[in-house]
Amino acid sequence: MSAESGSSPADESGGGPPLGRPDGTGLIASAGRSLPVLSNAVEVAAPSRTRQTELGVVDPRKPSWLSISAAEQERWVTEVAGQPKFRRKQIEKWIFQQRATSFADMTDLPLALRERLAAEFSIFTGQVVRHQISKDGTEKLLLEFPPMGRHGAGRIECVLIREKLRRTICVSSQVGCGMGCVFCASGLDGVDRSLQVNEILEQMLRITGVLPAEERLSHIVMMGMGEPLANLANVLPALEVASSDFGLGISPRRITISTVGLTKSIDRLLEVGKRYQLAISLHAPTNSLRNQIVPTNEKIGVEGIMEAAARFKRETGRRLTFEYVLLGGINDTLEAAEDLADLLAGQDALVNIIPYNPVAGLPYATPSNHAIARFRKVLEDRGVVVKCRQRKGDDIDAACGQLRRMVAKSSVEIANGS
Ligand code: SF4
Repeated sequence: MSAESGSSPADESGGGPPLGRPDGTGLIASAGRSLPVLSNAVEVAAPSRTRQTELGVVDPRKPSWLSISAAEQERWVTEVAGQPKFRRKQIEKWIFQQRATSFADMTDLPLALRERLAAEFSIFTGQVVRHQISKDGTEKLLLEFPPMGRHGAGRIECVLIREKLRRTICVSSQVGCGMGCVFCASGLDGVDRSLQVNEILEQMLRITGVLPAEERLSHIVMMGMGEPLANLANVLPALEVASSDFGLGISPRRITISTVGLTKSIDRLLEVGKRYQLAISLHAPTNSLRNQIVPTNEKIGVEGIMEAAARFKRETGRRLTFEYVLLGGINDTLEAAEDLADLLAGQDALVNIIPYNPVAGLPYATPSNHAIARFRKVLEDRGVVVKCRQRKGDDIDAACGQLRRMVAKSSVEIANGS
């Protein structure tokens, strides 16, 4: 679920751990190296089959170590490499806590093990195609993953949002999106494929790598490109690693999964992933309005979503969170605010209002300050808790999917000589 990724996500989990000073310009510390940053965007060379980049060793021909489960890793360490099983934990510590980007960095492993690992696995399989830094400290990476089966190379975006002590990553779950929300750049070309576990984890590690050594990620929001609940098979194992002590150690209450409202998958999440926060991207309070904005609503319906949300709340006891991208002149009206207040009346609900980040080529506008304030007041007067997200990264194509489209467009123009 995206279009929110240029905004500052809100949840109820409190601030992050003590962190150092944000550094949006100059040099970026990356796994012990310094990457030069030019103005507000950095571009690295086009992908090759195998090469050493400043952000790590990339060899798409080898599987990623992160693509196999902990049990498979342990089996490989003990049965293939003939090492004690604690070596697996050492490897995990190097990757997730010490930001190693190659097996050669893992200096307390026996040399033969490092060489065997490097011969059979890579850590990263993607390439950083572009790196943008906003004046407000928001950073965005455009990553390209290698072709997979019938799918070509896939480009996705991940975003680092700095807000006081928080360091939040907005993670993509799919290449493109099949939900077709009319205001969203990510869904304009439909969905190509779902991201694999290692590709989801790689986003977190790449973003961790741009943080100064004394900082770490404090929050994860699955709100980037794609519908996370359409890819639970990969999203949940990745979050399991991210929230574990041997991974990034981020508490599940600081991890939010966003959905356009896939009701069967919300119920599935209740069975297997209810430790995480759920945010439902509603964007409209009535079927007539939501059908225009979120086409998949025609199959689901606002009523079905509210019933699934109520089941989630009953089971978890946690307040319901609804995301509402406010589109100027469309769903920011007094009538829409009153309909939303009616829908949420008497419920323990939080509404995150997200003023729209305009997307080039789409006919939707940011709401006026007056419309935002009016919308908020109607809800608050009716007892609904409201947060309004700050817009972040306006100067770096921060609405999810915009950078990917912009880079693709300029490539086509260059190819056409225009
Ligand atoms: S089209 Fe997909 S990525 Fe975009 S807002 Fe809708 S669910 Fe999110």
